Amino acid sequence: MPDKKINFLLVVTVFLIFISFRWSLDACYTICVGKSASASGRVIVAHNEDDYGNLPVNLYLLKTAEVEPNDLLPEKILRVLQPLNLKLQDTLWIEVRTMDFADSYLNQSGVLITSNACPSKEDLPELSDGGVGYYLRRAVALFSSNAQDALRIIETLISSFGYNSSGRTYTIADQNEIWLVHLVNGKRWVARRVPDDQVVVLANRYIIDEICLKEKENFRGSSDLVAYALRRGWYSKKKGLFNFAEVYGQPESQQSAKNYLRQWQGVTALSDLNPEPQSRLPFSFKPKKKISVRDLTALLRNHYENTDYYLVDKERNDSVHFTNNRTICYDTTKYSFVAEMLDAQSGLPAIFYLALGFPCQTIYNIIAFDQNEPLETFYQTESWKQALKNHFQKSEEDLLLKQEWNFMKILNRNLNNFRFSSQKTEQFKRAITSFEDNLFGDQIINRIEHYLKIDKTMTLRYLINLMERGERWRLLTLKELNE
Ligand SMILES: [Zn+2]
Repeated sequence: MPDKKINFLLVVTVFLIFISFRWSLDACYTICVGKSASASGRVIVAHNEDDYGNLPVNLYLLKTAEVEPNDLLPEKILRVLQPLNLKLQDTLWIEVRTMDFADSYLNQSGVLITSNACPSKEDLPELSDGGVGYYLRRAVALFSSNAQDALRIIETLISSFGYNSSGRTYTIADQNEIWLVHLVNGKRWVARRVPDDQVVVLANRYIIDEICLKEKENFRGSSDLVAYALRRGWYSKKKGLFNFAEVYGQPESQQSAKNYLRQWQGVTALSDLNPEPQSRLPFSFKPKKKISVRDLTALLRNHYENTDYYLVDKERNDSVHFTNNRTICYDTTKYSFVAEMLDAQSGLPAIFYLALGFPCQTIYNIIAFDQNEPLETFYQTESWKQALKNHFQKSEEDLLLKQEWNFMKILNRNLNNFRFSSQKTEQFKRAITSFEDNLFGDQIINRIEHYLKIDKTMTLRYLINLMERGERWRLLTLKELNE
């Protein structure tokens, strides 16, 4: 074989290894709590967003009246959504710069959308006009008054264009309900409602198993899922009941320990169930007690502590993030949030707790997001109107340095093992707990609720105050701990 050809093959192999390595690091984790399963009686969604690289995370409020619809969404999307006759909504936009599938949104009507990569086995996707990808979640956030609108938008976009990525789960919530939407590369999809008294834990594989599309209150999706799978040879009636996750999921992701261990950890931490990690885990389950926001922040910080899967050697003071078991809180975690959904009529769509960077090393802070001004100081590297144009522009290092948590990461680039050592993590945990005991206390939530009943301006002023206090603490205390 000529040398050139060998070199070429070598480059291709290295590239493929790099791609699969990169994919294995892009992962996310989501917990959905139905309203009768939570301590507050509210719908709660909690999420860790994982993406590879040093990327700025920004928080913006998209004010739809101040820009043209074309500045927000591509013409082709506006065109197909127009017949649905939906009203534009202002929305909080959590942006991970340059990424196609890492942003989350929460709009003024209290509709939340976030996602987990869940690869499918589809290799012959049907796409029209390039398909839809990045803009799907933004379209949902900008046009939905509730979760049902969101499902109609997804159905319209997927049937018009097809989904242009291997597969993904979108979690959609409003104050009443949560839906998990599995998209497959091309024009097929399925969605299932989270039962009100149950909890769902999602890593990076499909989990909707048996489906019943006739039951419209609990299922939605493409009508030809079974017929198409039969045609492709992915399923035969001999195999028993049709199981969507098994039939459409990419086998490596469905069976990967990176996924089943994280799901198993969520199920065992929140329920009385004690399944084997590799067994078929339930789509949803009843919690052992009503779930609080704090139960969820604890799970989002989990590295398998107190289980057989915690591989950190405390003697050697190893990093909690670099073990063979891919942890829930990980070196790639870019942001983490818990959204406790409120009645948007009250003037606040959710109590929104946000941790930037690694949740085990920082606090969840309450975010006031009614205007851009209070967000500018801590969460924006440029204005929201610039960000709309620049999302896919790579950021210079100076932009990253503007963000304290990225700054700390860059500063610690060569000291990762020290910073994430089990001892250091314990130190962070003590400091964080003392701050959060106050933040998650009933008196703060009661006061927010009390102010909401009186006056929105007053509520906002209180939230801004809390947020600034939290950020000052984050910068001072965590910086000190890093030294
Ligand atoms: Zn961690």
